[in-house]
Amino acid sequence: MESIVKPTPLVYSEFLSGHAAQPVYLKLEQSHPTGSFKIRGAANKLLSLTDEEKQRGVTTFSTGNHGIATAYVAGRMGIPCTVCLSHRVPEAKLGRLKRLGAAVEQTGVSQDEAAVRCRELEAEKGMTVVEPFDDPAVIAGQGTIGLELMEQLPNVREVVIPLSGGGLLSGIGLVLKKADPAISITGVTMERSAVMQTSLKKGAVVTLEEEDTLADSLLGGIGEDNRYTFSMTRSLMDKGVLLPEERIKEGLYSLLDHHKMVVEGAAAVGAGYLLDQPIPEGPVVLIITGNNVDTHTVKTWMDS
Ligand SMILES: *Cc1c(COP(=O)(O)O)cnc(C)c1O
Repeated sequence: MESIVKPTPLVYSEFLSGHAAQPVYLKLEQSHPTGSFKIRGAANKLLSLTDEEKQRGVTTFSTGNHGIATAYVAGRMGIPCTVCLSHRVPEAKLGRLKRLGAAVEQTGVSQDEAAVRCRELEAEKGMTVVEPFDDPAVIAGQGTIGLELMEQLPNVREVVIPLSGGGLLSGIGLVLKKADPAISITGVTMERSAVMQTSLKKGAVVTLEEEDTLADSLLGGIGEDNRYTFSMTRSLMDKGVLLPEERIKEGLYSLLDHHKMVVEGAAAVGAGYLLDQPIPEGPVVLIITGNNVDTHTVKTWMDS
């Protein structure tokens, strides 16, 4: 995996430390060549395939970042790749996928509909579906962030993780809780269409309509037949936070103003959460998950 995925920096945030009343660090996952942490899970999964599976190729569905990561890793390894996307996926992500040389199929208006097309390709052509989160190899790949954190900041007390399907939280949570069960795991989602957190409250997987949000990478269902991440998130997450759009925007602005970082909405939910939230125990790490935005999107944030 080291040949494809490099460790990412951890930087101190003076501004957010002031707000949280604890030392706050940012784990810069936007610094991967694909602009998000999803390269970790994709690389671990593709490296686990047999030669025959590699020849038949891979397919995936995603709100963008997982598709980009899978396409990139497949390209590096010479594996054929088809990405199925909904029509809601932003233009920047679409263009990037095509430039990576993947075949792209657009269908429907939700990730769940793109997933159906993916299964068809699996049945028709024997392609391996690279799950965006609900797969042990993908979860373990995302967990390498936890391994890096243990070296970079062994005394970490709380990790704040943007939460969608829960692969990221499950991987990091598994590694860190094993090292020290007292490390607190906080999952943050937007209020709109928060499928995992709503499912956890109900005690069963729910389906919600996708609403527009600044954190578009956190949209998407968790799968009615979810096998791993629902139960893992339930047991590993100490605290679940739901953020209004206004707070996500404040998070974005704080990263831009104080760190000169342009990231996507999903990556800024942790900063939004910390802004008016004193934290009982530090150091705290925010996972800055990705930066796939375009000028047009940034302009709409500025104007709104
Ligand atoms: C996928 C993604 C997440 C959430 O990861 P899950 O494993 O689905 O919970 C957060 N931020 C960004 C930028 C992502 O692409």
